[in-house]
Amino acid sequence: MTLQDRDNHPSAAGAGEARLYEAFIALGSNLGDRERYLQEAIRLLNDHPLIEVIRCSDVYETDPVGYADQGSFLNMVAAVRTALSPSQLHAHMQHIENRLGRVRTIPNGPRTVDLDLLLYDHTELHTPELTVPHPRMWERAFVLVPLLDAIGERPEFRASITRRLDTLEGKEGVLRWSSFNWPSGFGLSGS
Ligand code: AMP
Repeated sequence: MTLQDRDNHPSAAGAGEARLYEAFIALGSNLGDRERYLQEAIRLLNDHPLIEVIRCSDVYETDPVGYADQGSFLNMVAAVRTALSPSQLHAHMQHIENRLGRVRTIPNGPRTVDLDLLLYDHTELHTPELTVPHPRMWERAFVLVPLLDAIGERPEFRASITRRLDTLEGKEGVLRWSSFNWPSGFGLSGS
């Protein structure tokens, strides 16, 4: 079912007329069954009647950044099409983090699953809860490497990401772990 079909779902307010936006969401997990948390988060995103996951990056295993005394992360990026506003989308992302058991203790510390809104079309937004584009995305190889997989036909972003990755340190700590064949799920993993 596409999002256009799902716009006709009775639960979709303003069915059929909503404009659709493309957004990019970074996902990371370093606790428990990391692959399962990522897969569940993608499924929960797509289950929302006004969100359609349209592309996923491969999954990368990455060294922790910031608080180093923790297990390595699995990171990926999902491209979604949505009729939700940035703040509605972010609220749903936080709902997914809570549902999958994330407890915020140490800043940048271990987490079952973390979802960050990287880009929402060409929107720039600064509110107390949300800054878009994500303020730290250009400093993080573990975000930019999978974002390049998921960016699709966006030459303006593709060129900036490639240019930034040329000089960004830490790329060697981002290793391809498995493919993620949306919608069927993970391919061969590195475990
Ligand atoms: P974290 O605990 O690392 O997931 O950080 C989440 C905090 O960053 C929350 O307070 C969010 O409201 C805030 N935040 C600001 N901009 C963004 C963004 N683009 N994506 C996700 N969280 C954001």
